[in-house]
Amino acid sequence: MRFDILTLFPDFFPPFLEEGVLGRAVKKGILNVRLTDIRSFADGRHKVTDDRPYGGGNGMVMKPGPIYQALKSIERTGDDVITILLTPQGRKFNQAVAWDLAEKSHIILICGRYEGVDERIISGHVDLELSIGDYVLSGGETAAMVVVDAVGRLVPGVLGGEKSNTEDSFEDGLLEHPHFTRPRNFMGQDVPEILLSGDHERIRIWRRKESLKRTLEKRPDLLKDRDLGEEDRRLLKEIEKLAEKG
Ligand code: SAM
Repeated sequence: MRFDILTLFPDFFPPFLEEGVLGRAVKKGILNVRLTDIRSFADGRHKVTDDRPYGGGNGMVMKPGPIYQALKSIERTGDDVITILLTPQGRKFNQAVAWDLAEKSHIILICGRYEGVDERIISGHVDLELSIGDYVLSGGETAAMVVVDAVGRLVPGVLGGEKSNTEDSFEDGLLEHPHFTRPRNFMGQDVPEILLSGDHERIRIWRRKESLKRTLEKRPDLLKDRDLGEEDRRLLKEIEKLAEKG
């Protein structure tokens, strides 16, 4: 899969693209991430990329010209290309959106700065406005990293044999069960006995129950309006009964 990131700060990205799971995928060529410096498409000696807002007011606005030229310079790869603007005003990014984007052949990400980009870029050249949450960042670069990371790890071959993503939180609408590793006792706390039993079916059920329990405790919104299977309903009843007992 190919990503193009349009930014005024391309230097933010190399360490992020060189380390860990993503770094390996980039090295292997499974992910092809290219950086485009919007400033290099600005006119004049000073390469100005922002200007005062029409109508007055605080802050500066990213000029449309350099972003348009930067977009034009990108050769589209494959037949499913999407241009995304990172903005707090966009659709909320989540795992379902990440899966939709993982189907694309080529994702172009525009990182805003200052008060944001000239509206005519949005109306004329953006397919999707995407927000990583209800807060305001100083630039779209960290948001672009979030999108590349969450989408990139869904691309076949990126996680390799290391881990399947099908058990992760949100994959089936629940938070994932807790994890334990060695030592067996850490500062007086033991690993749950069942995980040492070797009984795969009992461990599966225990994990499912823990997954439901922590979703109920931490993110009850995820369980609202969800169609649960018979086993889940039974496990939830057990959890509720236990909670009633205190
Ligand atoms: N004035 C804008 C507003 O109120 O909607 C906020 C501009 S913000 C300071 C600068 C840039 O950071 C935005 O253009 C956008 O690219 C990025 N950004 C800020 N918050 C974001 C978020 N929650 N999700 C994605 N991008 C964000």
